[in-house]
Amino acid sequence: MKKPDIVILGAGYGGVMTAVKLQKILNSNEATITLVNKFDYHYQTTWLHENAAGTLHHDRTRIPIKDVVNMDKVQFVLDTVVSIKPEKKKVKLKNGEVPYDILVIGLGFEAETFGIAGLEEHAFTIDNINNARLIREHLEYNFAMYHHEDEKNPGRLNIVIGGGGFTGVEFLGELANRIPELCEEYDIHKSMVRIINIEGQSTVLPGFDPQLAEYAMNSLESRGVEFMTGAMVKECQADRVIYEKDGKEVEIPTYTTIWTAGVRANSIVEESGFEHNRGKIEVRSDMRAPDQDDVFAVGDCALIMNEQTGKPYPPTAQIAIQEAETVANNVKTLVQGNGELESFEPNLLGTVASLGRGDAIGDIFNNWKLFGWKAVIMKKIIDNRYLLKLGGVGLLMRKGKFNIFY
Ligand code: FAD
Repeated sequence: MKKPDIVILGAGYGGVMTAVKLQKILNSNEATITLVNKFDYHYQTTWLHENAAGTLHHDRTRIPIKDVVNMDKVQFVLDTVVSIKPEKKKVKLKNGEVPYDILVIGLGFEAETFGIAGLEEHAFTIDNINNARLIREHLEYNFAMYHHEDEKNPGRLNIVIGGGGFTGVEFLGELANRIPELCEEYDIHKSMVRIINIEGQSTVLPGFDPQLAEYAMNSLESRGVEFMTGAMVKECQADRVIYEKDGKEVEIPTYTTIWTAGVRANSIVEESGFEHNRGKIEVRSDMRAPDQDDVFAVGDCALIMNEQTGKPYPPTAQIAIQEAETVANNVKTLVQGNGELESFEPNLLGTVASLGRGDAIGDIFNNWKLFGWKAVIMKKIIDNRYLLKLGGVGLLMRKGKFNIFY
């Protein structure tokens, strides 16, 4: 009998952890496992804001797939998924096609711009290594250009971040550290540079504990960040951003708008005709698509309702990693054709947001609030724990974060 083809799309947290677990629990003679990704490395999305600000080199964030996946057990295909054809059980790639018997969709997220004029064309997004690297270079270029032009142009030194959610706040923290370094390097006085956050709600980190959100704002303000809360971005152009607050439109000259205010699942899910809820596959408790017994979704492509709150669980790396465990176990059960599929039970350990060098906030283990260095240590434990789980002590030693002062 032909071995079933298991195809995993995307090597983010959900996809790569599914592959790593499957290579351990399935024998090579039981199934063929194929992992498709558009880069030959896995990157830690949760570190991209540091790469974008230039406080951490992107080579610390990316991990060659061959370093964590056993290429004797998993076939790796370096290609871009174009669409999925569930009725034909095929995945169309830029350079070919892959058939599957069991599919795992882990294609992650993309920026949601809500149709705001000019954002797609002119704003930057922090969603992969290439874009993070582009932001870092763009910041430096504008600092360099400031002294190069005869007429001083404040737009070169105004940096606007749209959105004060988790990603926006973490990025602001890194910028607050990076900008003084850039000022020194390019002979620019710190007072010339503005870091402006535009957030629609009345506070940053909406949904987070208010005391922690206030701490975050105070910490960032003390390092020069300006907050425009209750303000909506209306339009972005190459050299300005326009926002509305209290019924008035305000224009900020800037060449650097970074949009962090919205994410959605990879649009391939919706375009491939899967039944979806706001672009995500609302999976059954065993992580399978509602009408497809051979298709699993993991990470930001999957939507799971929290029965207690009636709201979906937020898209996080933490949940993606936990889901991968269930997906791998259930794929194995399908391949072996015996036993019941297990239900996914999230184990929410809490959230820790970095605020840049030496500062962070956290809400962990059911309402234990952390501030400052304690939260910094917790953040590093979380990051290092993932590396250990993914690639063992060797990977932890190569990529881990051990300096608590940075
Ligand atoms: P991803 O990790 O995004 O991986 C998707 C993979 O699919 C990528 O490898 C990509 O290359 C690949 N891919 C995409 N499209 C294609 C295609 N067409 N063809 C082939 N391959 C493709 N969560 C937390 O829990 N804690 C945090 O502290 C935290 N911080 C964050 C900070 C930032 C700056 C950001 C942006 C997010 C943060 N998140 C955090 C959220 C978290 O990163 C996501 O929820 C998580 O990455 C989702 O994992 P995933 O496996 O679904 O997708």
